[in-house]
Amino acid sequence: MFFLRNNGNAAAMNIGLMGGTFDPIHMGHLVTAEEARQQFDLNYVIFVPTGTPPHKEKETISLPEHRYLMTSLAVMSNPYFFVSTVEINTEAPTYTIDTVRHFSGSEKEGPEVYFITGADAILEIFTWKDYEELLRLCTFIAVSRPGYSLDRFRETLNRAYPEMVNKVHLLEIPALAVSSTYIRERVALGKTIKYLTPEPVEQYIKKHGLYLSG
Ligand code: NAP
Repeated sequence: MFFLRNNGNAAAMNIGLMGGTFDPIHMGHLVTAEEARQQFDLNYVIFVPTGTPPHKEKETISLPEHRYLMTSLAVMSNPYFFVSTVEINTEAPTYTIDTVRHFSGSEKEGPEVYFITGADAILEIFTWKDYEELLRLCTFIAVSRPGYSLDRFRETLNRAYPEMVNKVHLLEIPALAVSSTYIRERVALGKTIKYLTPEPVEQYIKKHGLYLSG
C-alpha cells in the first residue's frame, strides 16, 4: 500500500513504475530510475520486482523475498524511491497490465503512469497480456545499455509498431553496462562485486550465499 503525497493535486501526479526481475538490483537500475525521475518529472519511482514472470516460468530465478529485500535495501537512501510487493505477493504468473491497473487507480484523474524497463522487453510488448489497454493506460520508457542499437530499436518500432511510437520514449544509460547476469557470473567465479551494487545488497548476497552456483 502506498500513500503518495502530491499536495492534494491528484491530476498533476506522475509516477514511474520500474519493472524488472532485479536478480539482483544493481547501480545501473538505480541510475536509470533517477535519470527517468528527473527527465520525466516523476513524483515517485516505484520499483516492482516481478513475481513469477509469465515468460520465465522454467528458468531459475532467486526467491521473490530475496529480490524484494535486496531492492528495498538498494532504494533506502532515495526519498523518491519505493518498492512494491504487488507482483511478488501472488504465486500466479504476474502481468504488467494488472500492475499498471493497480497503480492507475479507478479514478478518472488518476496518476499519469510511466512504465520503465529494458528496451528488449518492451520490443516484445505485443506478446504481453492486454497490450492494447496497456498502451492506453501508460507511457513506456525503454532503457538500453551501451552497445545496444537504439537506431535499430527506433526502426523496428516505426516499421512494425507505428501506433507505439508516441507511447515509447528511449533512454540510453551508460551505467547499464552493469547487468544482473554480469553480477551473478562474478559471484559464481568468486570475484568482487563491490561498487556494482549498493553495499547492503552486496552484504545480503554474501550472507545468503546467493549466486554461488552460477
Ligand atoms: P529481462 O528479460 O530480465 O530483462 C531484459 C533486459 O532488460 C535485460 O538486459 C535487463 O537487464 C534489462 N532490464 C530489466 N529491467 C530493467 C529496468 N527496470 N531498467 C533497466 N533495464 C532493465 O526482463 P524482465 O525483468 O523479465 O521484464 C521486464 C519487465 O517487463 C518486468 O516488469 C516484467 O514483468 C515485464 N514483462 C511483462 C510481460 C507481460 O505482462 N506479459 C512479459 C514480459 C515482461 P538486467 O538483467 O541487468 O536487469
